[in-house]
Order: sequence, then structure tokens, then C-alpha cells
Amino acid sequence: MSHDDHGPECLCDHLPHKPVRSERDEAIDEARTGSGLSRRSIMAGIGAASGLALTPQLAAAHGRGKPPSAGPPQGMELVLLGTLAGPPVDIHHVGTSSALVVDGRTYVVDCGRSSVTQFATAGLRFDSLAGIFLTHLHADHFADYYNFFMLGGHIKNQNGDHITGPVPIHGPGPAGGLPPKFGGGSVPTVNPDNPTPGTAQMTEALHNAYAYSMNVFLRDMNVADIRTLMDVHEIDLPAGTGATFENTSPRMRPFRIFKDDKVEVTATLVPHGPVFPAFAYRFDTEYGSVTFSGDTRRSDNLIEMAQGTDLFVHEAIGVEGAGIGEASLDHMLQSHVLIEKVGEIAEAAEAKHLVVSHYSDLGAEKVDVRKWRRLAQRGYGGRATIGEDHDRFSVPPRGRGRR
Ligand SMILES: [Zn+2]
Ligand SMILES: [Zn+2]
Repeated sequence: MSHDDHGPECLCDHLPHKPVRSERDEAIDEARTGSGLSRRSIMAGIGAASGLALTPQLAAAHGRGKPPSAGPPQGMELVLLGTLAGPPVDIHHVGTSSALVVDGRTYVVDCGRSSVTQFATAGLRFDSLAGIFLTHLHADHFADYYNFFMLGGHIKNQNGDHITGPVPIHGPGPAGGLPPKFGGGSVPTVNPDNPTPGTAQMTEALHNAYAYSMNVFLRDMNVADIRTLMDVHEIDLPAGTGATFENTSPRMRPFRIFKDDKVEVTATLVPHGPVFPAFAYRFDTEYGSVTFSGDTRRSDNLIEMAQGTDLFVHEAIGVEGAGIGEASLDHMLQSHVLIEKVGEIAEAAEAKHLVVSHYSDLGAEKVDVRKWRRLAQRGYGGRATIGEDHDRFSVPPRGRGRR
């Protein structure tokens, strides 16, 4: 199938899966934290069946040795759980999800496919989960959302680890309407009585869909009611933005959506094709800041919110050699940023370190990380890294930062 056959739809619905090459350069290694849990050691752990040693954290995650720690007891670390854009299964690359660990407390941004497994293999503990933040309701961002609770939460694992209290969940409210079909014509509508549920109704529907399993476990295993583990908040937009599903990202100021004693989280609307609302998030802590773009084309709202951020986690796509027609490319670029343009955005935001995550190369068999790093560096005076699953970054960044 040619790439044109994918049609001019949103990337999230149509990205082909692309294995990502594993080669990394020295500079990226420098960015890793001193936790000793490098990507290579993680892969060695996963490959334990072939005789490679498990790291202590992974040994615990696999039920051997001491229980895994949630991360450094003091300090801040970003863990990329998955970096893939789009829903299709890729055996080398997991759906988009990031974990921010602050003084041993874990905040998860998006829950793509297999992120709950990645959470465990990264050595993170479910009882450290202090918040989940969904950027938007494309399936590649919430495929494992309910699994964090249904599989990771209400039944203790072999380490005695489980979610112990209600986890704050912040996500989009209902879109309130659907766009017309791109290119004209008509398509069916799923659940026409309520075709645009937000995070709260989606969660309620998931409770109902899985009711039998929960009801049996409640009677048979003395577990917590899964509903008591989730505290869902739909993000209210500030008054006067004028934002609707037909005006998805008017210029606005960032606004606070969450605060506890470790993090303050601000949000802003970003333009992601027809998707509404689509949010970017910024986490500020005593150690520094991390900003997540979510899925977006170039966004002044995001550039404003990300000003001076320590780590800027931004999405990107590659289309070179994909043979995508002009109309389709135009449409795709309403939703996403080309890898060769992402550095300019990081420069405008004066970010200290750009980490590209949620990406796919539509024009190549694999993402060429070295080449992509050079492309991401274009127009950017800071440091660019192409993130890979299970990469870890300290905050503030170590080594060479913004020049
Ligand atoms: Zn999306
Ligand atoms: Zn996406």
C-alpha cells in the first residue's frame, strides 16, 4: 500500500508502524541519569532469557530481588515509557507515554499502548502514581489508561505493589461536536446520541463495560472498588477563550490545572487538526520544568507556555521519501510538526533540551536516529535528542545544555 493510500486523515489514525533503529550516539548517553538503568541495561534485562543479567530494578520488576523503587528518592527524572506516534502495533516501539518522577512520586502523561507494562519494567511503582494527564482523546494516547487501574491498580502484584488511593486524572472534556469528513462525503457516526464523550464519560463507560470482572473480583478477592482509585477531572477552559471544536486553539494564556506539594501543572490549547480539546502541559517543580507538547502543529500557545523550560518533549513526523501528495501532506501538517522544523520551535521557546517523542517516519523503514537528531537540531541552539522507549533524563539536564 502506498502512503497515499493512507489518505489525508489524521496521522494518529493512519501512521504505519516503523521499527526504530537501536543505535544511539555518545551524546545521548550523557543525557541519561546516573540511575544506572540505561536503555541498554533495560534491553539486557528484557533479554534475560538469553542469559543476560537483570538490573536490580528489573529483577524486582520480574519478581526477583527487592521491590523496585519509584526512582530517585529525591530529585526529578523524566522516563519515556513509549515514544511511538499512532495506534498501529510496532513490535519495537511502544505507544506514547511519559513518566515524570519527582521525589519518588510519579506523574504520567498519556497512556499509549503497552505503557502500563513499560511503567513496571522501568521499575516504577503503582503506589507512587500521583497523577495521570491525558493530552487528548486519540486512541494512541489513552489505550492503556484504564489498564493502569484494572491491571496495575486494584490487585497487588508480586511486589505487594498496587494503587492505594484515588489518583487524580486530568483530561479533556467533551469536544461538543464533530468536524465534517475531510475531502467531503459521509461516514457513519458511532453512538450518535453521544458521539464525543470526554474523559469522565469515557471512564464511566469503561467502568460499565468491565463491570462483570470488577464485580466478581470484589466478591472473590477482597479488592478495592476500581472506581475509588480514580479521581477524574475534566479540564475546564478559562472563560473567554472562544475555543470550540470549530476553533480549536485560539491564542490564550497558559492556565493552571493541578498543584500539589511537588508539581504545578499548567495547560494550553494546541492545534491538532480537528481534535478538540488538545492540550500541552508544563510541569514546574523545585528542580526545574518539563513541557509536553502533546500532538500539535507549530503552536504559539505552546511556545509561550514552554518559555525557558528545562526539557521540552515535542512530537514530530518525517515524510521525506514518503511520496505523500500535496493535499494529504498539507492536511497532515495541520496536526503535526516535521522533524526538520521542531528545532525552530524549541529555539523560539528557549528550551534548554529538546527531547523528540511521539514520532514516526512515514518515508523510511526505520527512523534513522542520527539523521533525525541532526534534523531536530536545525535552527536550535540547545541540545536535541531523539527519545527512545525507556530513556531517562534528569531534570535539570546534565552535561551540555543550551548554548
Ligand atoms: Zn493525536
Ligand atoms: Zn498521537
